[in-house]
Amino acid sequence: MSQFHEPQPSNPIVPIQLGLDDTFRFRCHRGIACFNKCCENIDILLTPYDVLRLKNRLGLTSREFIERYTVDCTLDAHGMPGLKLKTQEANTACQFLTAEGCSVYADRPAACRYYALGLMAMRKKDSPVEEASYFVVKEAHCLGHLEPKVQTVREYRIEQGVDVYDEINREWSSIILKKRSSGPTLGRPSQRSFDLFFLASYNLDAFREFVQSQPFQEVFDIPPQELQEIVTSDVKLLQFGFRLLKQVLFGERTIALKSAAVEQRRERYQRRLREEAERRAQQLSEEQDRVYDSLD
Ligand code: SF4
Ligand code: SF4
Repeated sequence: MSQFHEPQPSNPIVPIQLGLDDTFRFRCHRGIACFNKCCENIDILLTPYDVLRLKNRLGLTSREFIERYTVDCTLDAHGMPGLKLKTQEANTACQFLTAEGCSVYADRPAACRYYALGLMAMRKKDSPVEEASYFVVKEAHCLGHLEPKVQTVREYRIEQGVDVYDEINREWSSIILKKRSSGPTLGRPSQRSFDLFFLASYNLDAFREFVQSQPFQEVFDIPPQELQEIVTSDVKLLQFGFRLLKQVLFGERTIALKSAAVEQRRERYQRRLREEAERRAQQLSEEQDRVYDSLD
């Protein structure tokens, strides 16, 4: 374990980095005096799989779920679009909170499952592999830290069922991490890239229609059997979306393009090169004219 920053009086993060086999003391249960306290003041970032699980549980389309239960946020300084869980109208409590506890408990978001642990994903310089480390979040209202139960991070993850969430969201998390860590070298993605990011990450029903649309199929070369599997499985569709985002944002080509589309892209690229060369030639000629004019 290693120290990574000094504790602040108002900062609930215990500044000790934990690995999977490190232990911590914590237990949350229905009989505890602070039951529900942690859900009365929420700030929960939603992952794509959170949205999928919740909208299916509530029997809503992804658009309906987004409108009723989320608020927009940004994931980085460029304005990459994200979603947070919306609170109740009159206070800061979660809309799914009831006197009996969480009304969507079996499908609660990953952030709710992790609490009172925090997760930090990092990639070492020149390493393609991301490493996760954990830390304890100790808020004054949470009495779970006084309970006598000690467990490893690994045991807690299994008990809370976070593995499936992390597995399905893995490529999405790596997109966010790569985007953040590349900083200015990547530049600000276009508005169309942001729109595609939102569509593939959160608005899965509309993304399915997009993948089945004629314009999409004129560009991407996906065998019919594979396409059928993608559009009939929510999880496969999400993961296909993450591949598409990596292709669009980082040029990681894993989805074949149709040869006509490749040819069109090549022609567009060459046309842009020609236009740029003509623009430069025009600029040069104007500069030369100005030099001759100044000699008259
Ligand atoms: S989804 Fe459930 S566990 Fe998460 S904040 Fe809302 S009520 Fe609490
Ligand atoms: S012990 Fe902590 S996590 Fe559990 S209900 Fe109380 S405040 Fe929430």
